[in-house]
Amino acid sequence: MGALFGTNGIRGLANIDLTPEFTVKVGTAIGTFFDGGEVVVGSDARCTSSMLLSAMISGLASAGCKVYNAGVAPTPTIQYTVKERMVDGGVIITASHNPPEYNGIKVLAGDGVEVSRKEEKAIEEIFFDQGFRRARWDQVKEPSILEGVIEDYLAGVTRHIEVEAVREKRFKVVVDPANGVGSLTLPTFLHRLGCKVYVINAELDGRFPSRPPEPRPENLGELARTVKALKADLGVALDGDADRAIFVDETGKIHWGDKTFALIAKFFLMKNPNSTIVTPVSSSSIIREVVNKYDGSLVFTKVGSVEVSHKMKELNATLGGEENGGVFYAPHIPVRDGTMTTGLILNIMAESGKSLSELLSELPAYFIKKSNVKCPNELKGKVMERVIKEFEGLPKETVDGVKVFFSNGSAVLIRPSGTEPAIRIYAEAKSEGEVDILTQRYTNFLEKVIKEIREV
Ligand code: MG
Repeated sequence: MGALFGTNGIRGLANIDLTPEFTVKVGTAIGTFFDGGEVVVGSDARCTSSMLLSAMISGLASAGCKVYNAGVAPTPTIQYTVKERMVDGGVIITASHNPPEYNGIKVLAGDGVEVSRKEEKAIEEIFFDQGFRRARWDQVKEPSILEGVIEDYLAGVTRHIEVEAVREKRFKVVVDPANGVGSLTLPTFLHRLGCKVYVINAELDGRFPSRPPEPRPENLGELARTVKALKADLGVALDGDADRAIFVDETGKIHWGDKTFALIAKFFLMKNPNSTIVTPVSSSSIIREVVNKYDGSLVFTKVGSVEVSHKMKELNATLGGEENGGVFYAPHIPVRDGTMTTGLILNIMAESGKSLSELLSELPAYFIKKSNVKCPNELKGKVMERVIKEFEGLPKETVDGVKVFFSNGSAVLIRPSGTEPAIRIYAEAKSEGEVDILTQRYTNFLEKVIKEIREV
C-alpha cells in the first residue's frame, strides 16, 4: 500500500500531484472515515485552494457528510472552529509555508487537532482499497456556508489576553502576513487590543509576490526595516496559513522562534511551576535551560507539529513549541497559532514593562550549527547503531535520532533525514568556537563510520 500523508498532511504540486479528481477521491475516503458525519472545511488563499476545496466538498458530500464551509481563513481559525462547533472533524486545503505552486490537505479530528498517524493510516486504507461509503441519492446533504468564523475565533483568542494591561501600553506593531490569510485575523486582533497597527504585504495573493511564505529571517528584511523606520515596539511575520509567528524586536532584530518560545515558557513557568513543556527533540537548548531553571519538566517529541499536539493531549500539557515559530497553547487549542502566540508575547511585554529586546537578552544564549552528511538510505540504520554505541553512558534522548547532552551545556543531535539520503547534525554550544569543534568532530565521525560500513 502506498502512502498519502507526509509529516504535515498530504502535500504536493497543485494540479500535478493534487488534482481535483485526486482530491475528490481523498475527500470520499475522509468522509468515509468520518462515517458521513459533520465536517467543517476551509482553505488558505492559494491560487488553487478554491478549486481543490470544491473537489474536497464534493468527495465529503458523496460519502454522506454534512459539510460546513468556513471559506478562506487561517489554519488555526479553522481548527478552532472544528473544536467549538463540536462537529466530527475538519479538512483544510493549505500548503502552509510551501512555495505557491504547492497545495495540501490537512485532516482534523473533532477536537481540531490533526488526526494521529494511526488515523491517517485508516484513511489511506480506505483510499487505496476504494472502500468508500456512498450516500444514496436522496441522502446527499447540501453543503452550508459557515458565517462568523473569524469573529468567534478572535473572541476565543482574546479570552487569554490581559486586555486592559495590553491596551494601556498602546503598542505600535507591524504585521507581515506574506499576502496570506493571517491578514484576515491578526491586524483586527491587534486593533482591538488598542495597538497602533501597520500592515505590509496585506493583500491576499496566492502567488505570494512580496516574500516567500516561510517566515525565515532571510525573508523578513522588509519587516525588520519597517519596524525600525516606524520606531515600532514589535514586528510579527506569519507563514502562509498563519500558524507560525516570528518576531522582530524594537531595534529591528529578527529573532528565531526558539527564543520567543523560551520567553513564553519562562513566563508561563513563573506562574505555573512544575508544568510540563513539550517540544521536538530538534529544539535548541535555550528551551531546556529555561525549563530547568524555572522548575518545569521538558518532554521531547519526534520532529513535526502533529507530534507535539498529540504528546500534549496525552500528557494534558498546557504549553508546547517549536523553534520555527510554532507555539501551542492548550487553554486555547493545542495547535500552533500565530495570532495566539502574538497575544502571549504582548501579555509578557505589558506585564513586564520591558521591550522585546530586553526580555530576550535575559535568556541564555546558544550558538547553533546545522549540517548534513551524505548517507545512502540503506545504511542509515547501521550508522545510527554506531552513533548510539559512541554515546554509551552519556545522558541522551532517542525519541527521534540521538541527542546527547554534555556536562558543559553543549548538545548534539544526530538524526537521519526523513526526506533525503543524509544524516543531519545539530550542534549547540555556549561559544561559537565550541560549536564549530562539535560539528567538525561529528562530521568526521559520521564520514568515517559510513566509509567503514560501506567497506564491510
Ligand atoms: Mg503553517
